[in-house]
Amino acid sequence: MPDLLELKNISCAYGDRVAVAGLSLTLRENTLNCLLGPSGCGKTTVLRAVAGFENLGEGEIILGGETISAPGHLLPPERRGIGIVFQDYALFPHLTAAANVAFGLRDMTKTERRKTAAAMLELVGLETSAWRYPHELSGGEQQRVAVARALAPRPPLLLMDEPFSSLDIDLRERLALDVREILKQRQTTTLFVTHDQAEAFIIGERVAVMNNGRMMQWGAPYTLYHKPANRFVADFIGQGRLVGGAVSGGGAVTTALGVLRGNHSHKWPKDTMVDVLLRPDDVLLGVADGVECRITDRHFLGAQFMYTLRAPGDEELLSLMPSHFDMNIGQQVKAGVDAKHLVMFRR
Ligand code: ATP
Repeated sequence: MPDLLELKNISCAYGDRVAVAGLSLTLRENTLNCLLGPSGCGKTTVLRAVAGFENLGEGEIILGGETISAPGHLLPPERRGIGIVFQDYALFPHLTAAANVAFGLRDMTKTERRKTAAAMLELVGLETSAWRYPHELSGGEQQRVAVARALAPRPPLLLMDEPFSSLDIDLRERLALDVREILKQRQTTTLFVTHDQAEAFIIGERVAVMNNGRMMQWGAPYTLYHKPANRFVADFIGQGRLVGGAVSGGGAVTTALGVLRGNHSHKWPKDTMVDVLLRPDDVLLGVADGVECRITDRHFLGAQFMYTLRAPGDEELLSLMPSHFDMNIGQQVKAGVDAKHLVMFRR
């Protein structure tokens, strides 16, 4: 797949405040990509720079082989042909759903516009709501109209800025799944901004984790979860606890939980002090040759319990177990680590 969008070492500032610092990113055609990071890390600024609303202090943005932004050069937003869906729907309140979708289709005849708007509303499951006004639609329906409107002119690139954040959690997840299907069906290259990891993992084939205006890691969700590049990503993505240890022979690590073995590519010398990341799915309970732990907390999640444990060496662990493994706070249990790959950071 060829590259569609390239951000080359871009930096943006608001006065003295640096919002994005030396960020690089390449989006392949027909892929769904997310920018994920805590509030204030610069996600929206990146999106606005791509849309043409922010100047670059440094770097270059290339869309379809053309430089659209560079210091002193800004192709105006309306000439970029990029579709945008904002957080707040931004529908025209005095236009019906169909007229909102048809609004951007100026190059078409009236009949073509009507047909395209109807087809787009059908695509987002709102064919029976074409004549309703925004105030007659729910939040989720309004956001579907916004998606239909942004996709109608077949933009080469779609930018979405926290589009579901004002919806309740169930609806968010359903809409994220639906929108993912629609974007794949339309083969629309997308850059989606969110601070919600679950949403990023549903939508994003590739996810860029940002912090303080910088890129922390860029990869598939599976890689971010299982092979975080640094402590920030390890902490921000998923749950887990770091357990102290020392590198022993053959790449194993000696910890208070025993000797942990698993794949890793570190070539640290023996006795190097490390922290090993243990995810809740790495820690199994009721293991005959495990170490004795005490359950200090538990949360019922439906199909599973999330247990918090106090382990030897005063280490804390999390363990996710099927909900038929039902134990109480205060009980002793034997825990074993089953991690094929060891994620470690040098102390
Ligand atoms: P959120 O998830 O809260 O929307 P974000 O990751 O999208 O955050 P940005 O909105 O890009 O972050 O902001 C990055 C930084 O730039 C923040 O520190 C923010 O306070 C600052 N900032 C954003 N817009 C402006 C502005 N118009 N003027 C001054 N500073 C700004």
